[in-house]
Amino acid sequence: MKVVFVKKVIFIFLLICLFLTFAACANSTNSTENSEKDQNNSTTSTTSTTHTTNTSTNSESTTHVHAFGQWVVIKAATCTDKGEQERSCSCGAKEFQSIDSIGHTAGKWITDREATCTDTGSKRWVCSVCNETIKTEQIPAKGHKFSEWKITTQPTAYQHGEEQRSCSACKKTETKVIVSNASILSYRINSDLKTCTITGVKEMRNTNIIIPDNIDGYTVTKIAVNAFKGTTITSLTIPDNVIEIGSQAFEECLSLRYVTIGKGVTNVGYFSFRDCTSLLSITVDEDNKNYKSIDGNLYSKDGKELIQYATGKTATSFTVPYGVEKIGWYAFQREYSLKNITLPSSVTYIGSGAFQSCVNLTSINIPSSVNTIMAHAFNNCGDLISVAFESASGWSGVLSAGMSTTTTFSSDDLSDKTLAAQYLRDDYKDYHWSHN
Ligand SMILES: [Zn+2]
Ligand SMILES: [Zn+2]
Ligand SMILES: [Zn+2]
Repeated sequence: MKVVFVKKVIFIFLLICLFLTFAACANSTNSTENSEKDQNNSTTSTTSTTHTTNTSTNSESTTHVHAFGQWVVIKAATCTDKGEQERSCSCGAKEFQSIDSIGHTAGKWITDREATCTDTGSKRWVCSVCNETIKTEQIPAKGHKFSEWKITTQPTAYQHGEEQRSCSACKKTETKVIVSNASILSYRINSDLKTCTITGVKEMRNTNIIIPDNIDGYTVTKIAVNAFKGTTITSLTIPDNVIEIGSQAFEECLSLRYVTIGKGVTNVGYFSFRDCTSLLSITVDEDNKNYKSIDGNLYSKDGKELIQYATGKTATSFTVPYGVEKIGWYAFQREYSLKNITLPSSVTYIGSGAFQSCVNLTSINIPSSVNTIMAHAFNNCGDLISVAFESASGWSGVLSAGMSTTTTFSSDDLSDKTLAAQYLRDDYKDYHWSHN
């Protein structure tokens, strides 16, 4: 009776086990199918499923937990395509997971076409992994690398000249006509109906001005007052038949560097080269009877007047040559390099504005031979701190405007170089100074 009962219990138990096994296997199959479906439909990785399977073997019951191995790539991801990996359990169950595409990896720029002087080039940025082009860009044209303009044919008064430049990269050459001077200058016919006066520049197409001997059959003998004033001319040649240079004819030609004066000039007008702050030299024909040049500065032929210092020079000190008696009006005006000027004992007269706006001038001597210093000789010489009067007594000043205010300077004051500088530079700059 007891044995029968035990057998019945075992039998029922086995029945239950069979049923459970069947149910579990059905469930397991579904789960795998679902998992695979998930893999196909979704790119997100599936969570690993852990489930238990009850198996019964000979009335024993065990529980199986999936133990998945390492992910194994079954399709590698590329720059642009997803990959896939799987892992499996010893029971044969598998899980799948997609791998995101890597994206391109920035590699080198590859030039497909070099830019030239005039044409654009192109370059590509390629992926260092798949070599695909990530983007393409234009390389801007380089532009010509032109040399300086070089004169290949000098223009003359009448003939056009030519200048050239070429590109060092593509050898392209450009040429430009330099018009003859006769064709850009304007003139008026003088009363003798044979000669003419240059009145200016019609069109500044050539800054190297060579005044022609004659224009349209009229001999050029004069350059008018103010003719080239304030223009951009850079060099100037005055031919032998020109007799007269009008006052202020080349004043304030800030780019004018070289001047050549022919032998015929008998009169250089007032302030002809004043404020030509780039002036490096004035050359005068040796046969000129009225003027001469020493070291690029303009003097009267007898050397008694320094008419114009070449104010573009860069020397920091200058000694006026012995023999000069007169420092011309505005002779050094706007000279920006000189710090020290030495006057010789031949100087008697310092013209109005002679050193005006020599902003770097710090020291000068006044020899005892000097008897006149005109007004504004040292106006706007902000750096002037030392004026050495060789004879400090006997100086008086008259205000140039009224001629009524006379001041006698004490010899003590003028013996003080600093105070003397202050007087000439500031306090009595508007006075006409004289020494008896
Ligand atoms: Zn498993
Ligand atoms: Zn790539
Ligand atoms: Zn070029």
